Amino acid sequence: MGALSDIRTIQEILSRHHFTFSKAMGQNFLINPSVCPRMAQMGGAAPDAGVLEIGPGIGVLTCELAQRAGKVVAVELDKRLLPVLEETLHDYSNVTVINQDVMKADLAGIIKKEFGKMDVYVCANLPYYITSPVIMRLLEERLPIKAITVMVQKEAAERLCAQPGTRQAGAVTLAVRYYAEPVRLFQVSRGSFYPAPHVDSAVIQLNIRQTPAVAVRQEKLFFQAVHAAFAQRRKTLLNALSSGLGLAKEQAGGILSRANVSAGLRAEQLTLEQFAAIADAMDEFWEK
Ligand code: SAM
Repeated sequence: MGALSDIRTIQEILSRHHFTFSKAMGQNFLINPSVCPRMAQMGGAAPDAGVLEIGPGIGVLTCELAQRAGKVVAVELDKRLLPVLEETLHDYSNVTVINQDVMKADLAGIIKKEFGKMDVYVCANLPYYITSPVIMRLLEERLPIKAITVMVQKEAAERLCAQPGTRQAGAVTLAVRYYAEPVRLFQVSRGSFYPAPHVDSAVIQLNIRQTPAVAVRQEKLFFQAVHAAFAQRRKTLLNALSSGLGLAKEQAGGILSRANVSAGLRAEQLTLEQFAAIADAMDEFWEK
């Protein structure tokens, strides 16, 4: 078998298995030979580590991970890829493929059962239609993982790694920063995939914090404030929070002044600490 990043090898394997690409499942396979070794190396794959991969495709990244990590578990939704993976991963005894939807799988249970006491890393070329939901699921469930190293669309990478308080920031920026320290690792051109998507990509790494970046009395309120503020990001905080949280203007104004945040600012101008102060002021308001 030729290299799995070689387009002729891919075509040969896929045609033998009568496989046709599914756009709906975000199937763009990597054909640039330098990308997967770099991702595996930077993503924490080491002999004493376990790696959870999402969407192995035909196994091009999986092989690189298996060569470096103690154990690899790959969750793949498309059951048509199972016989392909059986063939391409034949030489690796440290890989388990699980045929499930990553959004529905019991990830905490899988990690516990498959990796035991190993340090666990997530490394994947994500299906782009669920980039943010997958990342938020991995973060919000507080899974015992050290870092998430993923390929995402370039625009998503910019938002996920943006600094709060800048125009690139969105609700997901604040949510990611709350749980992790994001780093942009490297860019990958659209020509590195087969079939080629319409946009370029980037590999980012989210290093999970031991404790959240800011302390809040009620996490739920922090995320409510962030989502309400960014749902109407062009509006002032006063307007966005009052309509998003179902409050009268005077009530939203009271919360903002208690939090010492100017009512005329917009969501993209706020720091994590300011959102935390708003969340605590909301908690005090509802306590009364
Ligand atoms: N890792 C391969 C590579 O780099 O060439 C394939 C990456 S491709 C962008 C995304 C993969 O995720 C596909 O194999 C697709 O079938 C799989 N996938 C799509 N939705 C999924 C889901 N909800 N759960 C698990 N895997 C999924």
